[in-house]
Amino acid sequence: MALTIDAAFAARNFEELYGYSPVGVWSAPGRANLIGEHTDYNAGLVLPFAINRRTFAAIGQRTDGTVRVASEGFHGVIEVDFGAQSTPTLEGWSAYPLGVVQVLSELTGHAVEGFDIYLASDVPTGAGLSSSAAIECAVAIALNDIWDAGLSRSDIALAGQRAENTVVGAPTGFMDQFASMFGEPDSAIFLDCRSMDVRAVPLGLGDFEVLVMDTQEKHSHATGGYASRRKACDSAVDVMGVSTLRDITTDMLNETQQKLDEETFRRVKHVVTENVRVENAVAAFGARDFEAIGELFAASHASMRDDFEISTPALDLAVESSLAAGAVAARMTGGGFGGAAIALVASAQVPEVMTAVAEAFTAAGYQPPLQFTVVPSQGARRDI
Ligand code: ADP
Ligand code: MG
Repeated sequence: MALTIDAAFAARNFEELYGYSPVGVWSAPGRANLIGEHTDYNAGLVLPFAINRRTFAAIGQRTDGTVRVASEGFHGVIEVDFGAQSTPTLEGWSAYPLGVVQVLSELTGHAVEGFDIYLASDVPTGAGLSSSAAIECAVAIALNDIWDAGLSRSDIALAGQRAENTVVGAPTGFMDQFASMFGEPDSAIFLDCRSMDVRAVPLGLGDFEVLVMDTQEKHSHATGGYASRRKACDSAVDVMGVSTLRDITTDMLNETQQKLDEETFRRVKHVVTENVRVENAVAAFGARDFEAIGELFAASHASMRDDFEISTPALDLAVESSLAAGAVAARMTGGGFGGAAIALVASAQVPEVMTAVAEAFTAAGYQPPLQFTVVPSQGARRDI
């Protein structure tokens, strides 16, 4: 039987490793994005939901300025002295949790007296389901409680993003952290990244399930394509003389095309049209109009494949083969360059769609994707 990752598991392993009981266990979920990709850092619209896979953080307090962190399935117990004069160098996976410690200390002015941290997670890493936000938000909500810092859920989300941007060095937006902090059962989170307005949108999925097809192609957001897409968006903002790409509407696309090189224009076109698709998707989910949702997902995927160029042949295959087997909607999800695609599938058809997708991958010479369904779930919380 597979290992059950939960708060009790994290508490038990904490005790075994450090020899005393944690003061508490907190957790935060990963997320799947229904629609709205690479729009968050362009002050646009996104519609993710928190998934029923979480990262648990069991935490104990120390008094010597030292922070020790271990994570189930990750190598070693990383130890860093926050009491020393200079800021410690944070590297590898521990930059995520320790980066949050550093950023929250800066934000709240609270000195780091020291912690022992034990992490356990069933969010797959590098799969486009934001294991990074899950780990950041679990640690951040814990420190906010332990320090009685009084930060709002939005503040905690932004602190997680700041740790990822400045300590890990990945120039990602804040969609993932907002989904992880504000997730609600049966609902998606409609976030306007300009006004920072957050609204839970009941999904009414009924007999439909969200199937994740993780290609297991790993990405890195600190290097490569993600960063270069972000740069292209920033350069378009400069050339167009706007403050963000949100200021560019669809009826300005012609004028935009004349001012930008061909490739940069396609990047902008993706972002501008994706914002419209998110708004339409909120309406379509409200009306339970799965045909419209299917069309919006298809247009979003095509835009990411052809204009933003962040899909991969394996992601395209996951989308195409799931649709051919009866999914009503499918698209790649997350930052791209690998990771996962999602499909909306009638519950009764899930097994046959999974089989068809696996067979299509084998026939194309790929390793079959890891497939599982996810359920919209509660955001970050204290468990014990
Ligand atoms: P994603 O967020 O899509 O899963 P990222 O590249 O943004 O992918 O983040 C994945 C990285 O986050 C991992 O390679 C690891 O460094 C770190 N990470 C995520 N979850 C954990 C965990 N439970 N324990 C330790 N490190 C983790
Ligand atoms: Mg991530």
